[in-house]
Amino acid sequence: LTTFTDEARIALDTVSSRASDLLSPSLRLGVTGLSRAGKTVFISAFVHNLIHGGRLPLFEAQKSGRIARAFLEEQPDDAVPRFQYEDHIHALVDERIWPDSTRAISELRLTIEYESASGWNRMFSRGRLSVDIVDYPGEWLLDLPLLGKSYREFSHDAFELAELPVRADLSEAWRKLSGEIAADADADEMVARKLFEGFAAYLKAAKLDERALSTLPPGRFLMPGDLDGSPALTFAPLPNLGDGKARPGSLHAMMERRYEAYKTHVIKPFFREHIARLDRQIVLIDAMQALNSGAAAMLDLERALTEILACFRPGRGSFLTDLFTRRIDRILVAATKADHLHHESHDRLQAIVRRLTQRAAGRANLTGADVDVVAMAAVRATREGTVKQGRETLPVIIGTPLKGETIGGEIFDGKTETAIFPGDLPAKVDSVFEAGDAKNHRQDQDDPAIRIVRFRPPRLERTAEGVTLSLPHIRLDRALQFLIGDRLA
Ligand code: GDP
Repeated sequence: LTTFTDEARIALDTVSSRASDLLSPSLRLGVTGLSRAGKTVFISAFVHNLIHGGRLPLFEAQKSGRIARAFLEEQPDDAVPRFQYEDHIHALVDERIWPDSTRAISELRLTIEYESASGWNRMFSRGRLSVDIVDYPGEWLLDLPLLGKSYREFSHDAFELAELPVRADLSEAWRKLSGEIAADADADEMVARKLFEGFAAYLKAAKLDERALSTLPPGRFLMPGDLDGSPALTFAPLPNLGDGKARPGSLHAMMERRYEAYKTHVIKPFFREHIARLDRQIVLIDAMQALNSGAAAMLDLERALTEILACFRPGRGSFLTDLFTRRIDRILVAATKADHLHHESHDRLQAIVRRLTQRAAGRANLTGADVDVVAMAAVRATREGTVKQGRETLPVIIGTPLKGETIGGEIFDGKTETAIFPGDLPAKVDSVFEAGDAKNHRQDQDDPAIRIVRFRPPRLERTAEGVTLSLPHIRLDRALQFLIGDRLA
């Protein structure tokens, strides 16, 4: 009898989970951006605001009181790590520190129960939407173009970019090392590793450099996930490969094989299993850091965004077509951390991001998806005020700078609130893309547009009943409306 009951229960579970899949439509939302762009903070704030009924006036379903409840459920993919929402919220809310950033792919399912806006639908049932949020490093996405490139082309492009004035000094040691090695020499594991390390060190240096250069592939060289040290990751481009085939047993042949293995075992499965199943996508960018570093960094960000957007264009006859099973119909490009600016500059930031996105989407030939932009702060760490200076009244932002941050020689202790004048963004949108060729980035840097000070996450207010209010934000509701609003109609 027991066996029968167990079996019956399993069968019933299966039927009911199928039925609930039918009753509860899902939407897969990809969240990406280069490292430190703000993915972890965005997802945490997104979920927290929905679960805790945050102030979201531009998110229609919430504003009109149609959301009955939002809660976390078990995610559908067992093999993908779960996004550690609770840990991140504990850091943000209880400790007031920024959570650990994205280092690999993770997933979280948020289910929303809502009243339909149309009386007709409301008659039948309460609506349910499960949003499967998929968080993954933008670095990995930038690998996609490699699928269309041979090892020879990859090597050629890597050296061409490395020799550009804006990167030449960073790549010098690796280029020198490569120059001393003959591609046709016998394969040698130690030589391969040295070249890989030199190349990876240059990619990392470019990422960390104050010029705020955007990333170059292979993405796992910067964000290895769980593949650190595996042969598919131990390769590097080689210079001057000529036209001939690689001699079997040569370093060239070894590198070529590993490059192909990287494509087969790393890039393709990642796209097939994750990217190709997305319905919607948000791309976070740290435009402010690029703006501060000058025109060369803006153009570099534009190049990275072009490549990212091109990944969502499964054109006919392209090598991507086979990989996509669904079609992404909405893409939001979001500049985060707008709380570093006074609200008078928010529209300017949005206008700059709009132009950046137009340029990138045009170059990527992106069609078939709605693209929108927003300047937002997923978590607002500052409030606004004014300070009188002589006869002038200056708009300022007020927050608690992180321990160790400095302004004009003053070092902060992480406890003191401070008002700073952040500066203005240029009114002329195009000027941020001009003004410079790659060489004068250092001059741009002497006169940054905005003073960026890193603040602690905000202190949350508690109501008389002891309930913690949800995380404050700027325009997060606008982002939510674009990304999921229509599915809650
Ligand atoms: P990820 O690498 O894309 O996951 O980036 P994170 O979400 O970890 O964000 C990186 C850092 O950017 C955080 O540690 C914060 O210092 C900062 N940050 C991200 N989002 C915001 C925001 O909305 N407001 C402010 N003030 N800082 C943010």
